[in-house]
Amino acid sequence: MILTYIEQTGGKINAASFEALTLARQLAEPTNAPLHAIAIGEASDELKRRLGVFGVNTLHLAQHDAFVEYAPDAYAASIVEIARANNASAILATGSERGNEILARVAAKMNLPFAANVTDVQSGDDFIVTRLRWGGSLFEQAKLHGTTKILSVAPNAIPSQPVVTNSFVPLTHSFVPQLSEYDLRVRVTQRIEGERGKISLGEARVVVGGGRGVGSAEGFQKLEELANLLGGAVGGSRAVTSLGWRAHADQIGQTGNRIQPELYIACGVSGAIQHMIGAKASKHILAVNTDPEAPIMFKADYAVIGDLHQVIPAISAEIKKRRG
Ligand SMILES: Cc1cc2nc3c(=O)[nH]c(=O)nc-3n(C[C@H](O)[C@H](O)[C@H](O)COP(=O)(O)OP(=O)(O)OC[C@H]3O[C@@H](n4cnc5c(N)ncnc54)[C@H](O)[C@@H]3O)c2cc1C
Repeated sequence: MILTYIEQTGGKINAASFEALTLARQLAEPTNAPLHAIAIGEASDELKRRLGVFGVNTLHLAQHDAFVEYAPDAYAASIVEIARANNASAILATGSERGNEILARVAAKMNLPFAANVTDVQSGDDFIVTRLRWGGSLFEQAKLHGTTKILSVAPNAIPSQPVVTNSFVPLTHSFVPQLSEYDLRVRVTQRIEGERGKISLGEARVVVGGGRGVGSAEGFQKLEELANLLGGAVGGSRAVTSLGWRAHADQIGQTGNRIQPELYIACGVSGAIQHMIGAKASKHILAVNTDPEAPIMFKADYAVIGDLHQVIPAISAEIKKRRG
């Protein structure tokens, strides 16, 4: 059988799970392998109906008191339990942050390789997979081996396709997974709401980003002032989120937010590839950096070579002066 993890957050189904299910069905078809799905918690009638339309024979529902909140190891343990009990030949999920996090843990528990963000598969004893690397900047072809192939599907790479004929009513199998204390050591314990009314990085028309060159958490006040004047948002590089100067939610890059402003003002940011993956959709980039050889200088439309602690307040002062 082939098993697909269906992602649900607060009862909302991640529609990209159906893309993973479409690939699972394509892999199942040559051998007529049964198509199973697994979800955590409850399944609405709507979910069951949609799974049937996608050709799912059996839906496994993992139910446990601990599942009121997200717990990636426990989710992975539930998937492994079903995969082992049914001799799964492949396990799929969508390549969302959660999908990848859970399948990485599934692979570790089963001591098998995992291919993340797959866009195409040629199946055989080994799978030849094409997958996105470096935040989508390149495609890689790789051989995926193992008795159970574990892969996540890059979102928007494979269109969801319901079965044309013979839709099923999936059999529902609820179970309580065997969890150890270890499986519950990583879990959500608290949720903090973001500031209301704050412009989000993903939507901001102007982003003022700070890197290690800002020097401290307090140094960001100058960037905040400029962002306020321009009606924009403040972000940062991974260096500054790792140093605790900004929250991770403010990070721009491969492992942070993707921004697409009209103007990105990058202050004291060197322009590492992982940072630029998150900033490449910016229409214009203004770099402020003391180093004329910093990589960002070669990607910026405009550059000021100078100390951001002088340049940024000077820009803010000029804006205030012009506005009277
Ligand atoms: C798997 C992986 C994922 C990653 N994901 C991300 C990610 O999502 N986002 C991200 O940002 N990084 C990411 N990184 C880290 C990335 O490789 C860089 O290490 C990081 O972006 C560097 O941050 P920075 O530019 O702030 O610091 P630095 O590289 O140290 O650059 C600081 C810059 O500030 C300049 N400067 C210093 N003082 C001043 C001053 N007074 N005025 C003006 N300029 C000054 C310096 O000339 C320098 O160019 C990732 C790395 C890995 C391996």
